Amino acid sequence: MATRLAVYPETSSQARRPPRSVRLSITDRCDLACLYCRAQGGERHVQDRLDLAAWRTVIQGLLKAGIRRVRITGGEPLLHRDLVRLVGEIAASGAEDLALTTNGTRLCDLAPALREAGLRRLNVSLDTLDPQRFAALTRGGRLDRVLQGIDRAVTVGFDEIKLNTVVLRGTNDDEVERITRFAWDRGLVPRFLELMPVGEGAKFRDRLVSGQEVRERLAQLLTTEPARGEENRGPAVYVRGRHDPKQRVGFITGATHAFCKACDRLRVTCDGAIHPCLAMPTGLSIGKAARSGDVIGVVTSVRKAWEQRPDGETWRGCSEDIAQQVSLRHVGG
Ligand code: SAM
Repeated sequence: MATRLAVYPETSSQARRPPRSVRLSITDRCDLACLYCRAQGGERHVQDRLDLAAWRTVIQGLLKAGIRRVRITGGEPLLHRDLVRLVGEIAASGAEDLALTTNGTRLCDLAPALREAGLRRLNVSLDTLDPQRFAALTRGGRLDRVLQGIDRAVTVGFDEIKLNTVVLRGTNDDEVERITRFAWDRGLVPRFLELMPVGEGAKFRDRLVSGQEVRERLAQLLTTEPARGEENRGPAVYVRGRHDPKQRVGFITGATHAFCKACDRLRVTCDGAIHPCLAMPTGLSIGKAARSGDVIGVVTSVRKAWEQRPDGETWRGCSEDIAQQVSLRHVGG
C-alpha cells in the first residue's frame, strides 16, 4: 500500500501572534454567484460602503497598528470603481506585501492598470476549465472572459499569479490534473482549496474533497517531499512538481485542519467592520472613525478586535457552527 503523504504538517509549531495581515473586502457585490458562496435570491447588499477617503484612514490605522501585509478581496474587488487608486495608495503606503483575489472576469481590462498601480501578486479563482460547468457553478458566468483575463495578466507580468480551485466531489474533482497542467503551462501556481463549511459552503459538506485526496490524485505529477508553507503567507502548503522544481501545487485544507493558533489575520468589510476571525459573523465597527479620518480610533479598534479573537486552542475556526452564519461575499474570501 502506498504511504499516505500528509498535506499539512501536524506538528508545525504555531505560536499565538499579534495581527500582521489583513483582508480588505472592499465590496460585497460580485458578478458571479458561485453555488457554494452565495445563496439563491433574497440577498441584501451593504448600503453604506466606505469611500476612498475612509479606506485611506483604515489603511493608515492598520499600518500604525502593526499590520504588514494586505490582500484586497470581496465580493469581487474589480467591480469597485476606485480599485486602481486604492491599489496605488496601498502600494505606496509602506505595506510589505499587497495582493489581490479576483474571479478574473474583468482582468482583461484592468490587469495593466493594476500592475502599473503597484500590484505585484494576484490570485484568480478558477474552479473548472469546462464552459458549461463554469456557467452552472457560477450561475451564468462566462469562462472565456476569465481565461482571457488570465492570459492578459500573464502578459502584463505580475511577480506571481496563483489559481485557486475549490474542489467539489462530482462537480470538478475530475479536473485537478487538467487544471494543474493548465496552470503550469502558463507559469502559474495552482492551488486546491477544501470547501469550508462557512456560509453557503456548509450546505455542500457532502461534496468535500480533502487536500489529502487531491494530493494523492496528483501523485504522478508531484514529488513525495513533505508539503511546505511559505513564510508569512497564510495556511497554504506547497508540494513541488516531480519533473521541474520550479513547478508547485498548493493546498489549503480549511475544512480538515484549523489554523487558528498561528493565524495573524484580520478582516475589514466594506461597511467598516473588523472581524478578527473568518468564522465570526459580526465585527467591531470602525465606520465612524474611518469616515471622520480618525486614524488613532482605527488603531484602538484594531487592538480591541484582536482581543476579541477566539482562543486558538479549542476554537475550530470555520468548522464552528457559527461560521454557517458568515457571508464570505461580505467578510471576504
Ligand atoms: N470574487 C473574488 C474571487 O472569486 O476570487 C474574491 C472573493 S471570493 C469569496 C474568494 C475565494 O473564496 C474564491 O476563491 C472562492 O472560491 C472562495 N470560497 C468561497 N466560499 C468558499 C468556501 N465555502 N470554501 C472555500 N472557499 C470558498
